Amino acid sequence: MTVVIKLGTSNITYPTGNLNIRHMEKLVKVLSDLKNAGHRIVLVSSGAIAMGVGKLGLDRRPEDMPGKQAAAAVGQCELMYTYDKLFSEYNHTVAQVLLTGSDVEDDARREHFVNTMSRLLAMGVLPIINENDTVSTEEIAVGDNDTLAAIVGCAIGADLVVLLSDIDGLYSADPRVDPDARLIRVVDGEISPALEAMAAGSGSGLAVGGMKTKLHAAKMTLAAGIGLVIANGSRPEALYALLDGQDMAGTYFRPKAEQGGDR
Ligand code: GLU
Repeated sequence: MTVVIKLGTSNITYPTGNLNIRHMEKLVKVLSDLKNAGHRIVLVSSGAIAMGVGKLGLDRRPEDMPGKQAAAAVGQCELMYTYDKLFSEYNHTVAQVLLTGSDVEDDARREHFVNTMSRLLAMGVLPIINENDTVSTEEIAVGDNDTLAAIVGCAIGADLVVLLSDIDGLYSADPRVDPDARLIRVVDGEISPALEAMAAGSGSGLAVGGMKTKLHAAKMTLAAGIGLVIANGSRPEALYALLDGQDMAGTYFRPKAEQGGDR
């Protein structure tokens, strides 16, 4: 299977911006094993800005554009250094791919991107993608890595996109305030306006703010006939079951072609 896996900043860094070594090592181990089993893995990794904050010893995330971009430039280095080191332990080679919105909107550049990805995967390399934050401006930015993962998944014709973050999946209500909130296990075929309203209306915290972009990503992949999973990245071992065709905790957005089958 060709799988695009997106990691959120909270999966690999502490709120201080320092590397969460425990999580990162677990993730790299699981992804390396999945590659050994024959899967083609593409990582979309956030965390550049946070790791820049940690490395520069800033007491908080910069709010101005040059500050964020400078932090991303420092953090992206640290991020790739860490991935390269950890994946090398399992004998896997990584490649850094940095994109902006305009790279994937332009037909010629998109084609180059797809060709390069296909060559990297054929060479057995694990591409690690992030937005090119240092040169991104509001006008050309994809803006968030959930959307970026969906764009990448659609462009390379992935079999599945997995969005890992610090939330368990899509809930029927905001689980932080509603004890009856229920995790929705499967969403079939399309994102209804009611579902969208549910995610948008349930607050502005970290988890729910993120749900809007995740639903947007699911909408894009479903339109391309590609399934998408939202799951908690704190238990990356759950990816084994998912790629073995079994269940995984989280929410599965099932494309039309697969409906009627078991998850
Ligand atoms: N590109 C940003 C970073 O690496 C993250 C964007 C996102 O998580 O959506 O810090």
